[in-house]
Amino acid sequence: MKMFSRRDAKTLRISGPEDRPRDECGIFAVYGHEDAAKLTYFGLYALQHRGQESAGIVASDGMRVVEHKAMGLVPEIFNEGILDGLKGTMALGHVRYSTTGSSLLVNAQPFRIQHSGRTLAVAHNGNLVNARQIRIQLEEEGHIFQSTMDSEVVLHLIAKTIRKGLDQAMQEVVTRVRGAYSMVIMTEDTLIAMRDLNGFRPLCLGRLNSGYIVTSETCALDLVEAEYIRDVEPGEILVINDQGLQSIRSEKVERRAHCIFELIYFARPDSNVFGQNVYLFRKKQGQLLAEEFPLEADLVMPFPDSGNYAALGYSHSSGVPIEMGVIRNHYVGRTFIQPSQTMRDFGVKVKLNPVKELLKGRRVLVIEDSIIRGTTARTRIKTLRRIGAREIHMLVSCPPHRFPCFYGIDFSTRGELIAAHKSVPEIRDFIGLDSLGYLGIENLVQSTHIPREDLCLACFDGEYPVPIDEKFSKLCFEC
Ligand code: SF4
Repeated sequence: MKMFSRRDAKTLRISGPEDRPRDECGIFAVYGHEDAAKLTYFGLYALQHRGQESAGIVASDGMRVVEHKAMGLVPEIFNEGILDGLKGTMALGHVRYSTTGSSLLVNAQPFRIQHSGRTLAVAHNGNLVNARQIRIQLEEEGHIFQSTMDSEVVLHLIAKTIRKGLDQAMQEVVTRVRGAYSMVIMTEDTLIAMRDLNGFRPLCLGRLNSGYIVTSETCALDLVEAEYIRDVEPGEILVINDQGLQSIRSEKVERRAHCIFELIYFARPDSNVFGQNVYLFRKKQGQLLAEEFPLEADLVMPFPDSGNYAALGYSHSSGVPIEMGVIRNHYVGRTFIQPSQTMRDFGVKVKLNPVKELLKGRRVLVIEDSIIRGTTARTRIKTLRRIGAREIHMLVSCPPHRFPCFYGIDFSTRGELIAAHKSVPEIRDFIGLDSLGYLGIENLVQSTHIPREDLCLACFDGEYPVPIDEKFSKLCFEC
């Protein structure tokens, strides 16, 4: 075993609540169940980790579409009375973290419009990279937009071509829209699910009795005791109505580009995404970290919950005992009063508190899943030093994050990525570590069951699988 020193530290980064990558969105849709809205409510509970800014459910009894949306968390927004009012055997739900458009009620989803006497509601996960250009074109043709979200573009494209039939309209969408989208659209009597040509974001199909569920992650199927059937394929459109389930495949074929960050960070560990169990993937990352960086330490620990499973994998593989060296306060909400400048570190500390008796005088190895700005990690490491940890090393279970994401994850400028402008030794010193290492990209890919050419790794290697719009920003429709 070789001690991992300041001199031979390889690479990577840290983070905490303030500089975590932000979750994106979650979708849950039901066709053919008498308690569709209530099932959707539970499904959204399972997906709450994907978005905490707003949530909404639309439901249809075959004739009339009703909705309820609000800012906040699922249990804050819905109650028994509200769910009783969302009648029907079809429902579509969404939890949102804003990646395009501000965090406002007007941008909450599902987004609903009336067109030619028909209702269309859309729930979307991902970012459309050419939404800006399409919107400019549509506005020049006289279309009027109600929100500042890219998703609204899709409804306008459907409305333009719906006279040819709903499935034709959906194919028009797949042809024109580029980027990352897993999307479900609901009319009074039909549910349509579709996934972009590259399959950036997950979307799966399940069965519950004689009905169907479409959702972002399999953990939501588990909760409602639905059976997983399969993933919606990249470029596939599923149409579910009283004729049954029809699958339409796009003739356009593009390379797959599954977002590796879904596996590293976003998806719940009890989900399977892209055909892979997330828990086992993260454990494998830890095993490979142990092979790449065999360190001498008294204990290995995560900052919960990030790094939990990679820390387990590191410990099992290396024999370094795992300890929960910091304890998470589970009752801290999303927001709390930001104290004055002199008290600002309290904001980070309120969530995690170290166990002094465990860490004092010990050589501690912290496993993290990512480092965005590094500011939260710095505060946490300062706390570990203050309570007397003898050495503090950190390993990150992915490569340094050097490039922004344009496909639906909210770190869209290089300025906010510490690894974009600091070397690994500089990051190590900034955070105050004895050593820092990042999992190599080959080992990251090896942690999956997916060939490298089917993954998006752009935030690590800068190779964007779909051309990006440099002028795109989260608030570009508000300028
Ligand atoms: S750039 Fe990174 S976060 Fe964005 S889709 Fe690709 S792998 Fe995922």
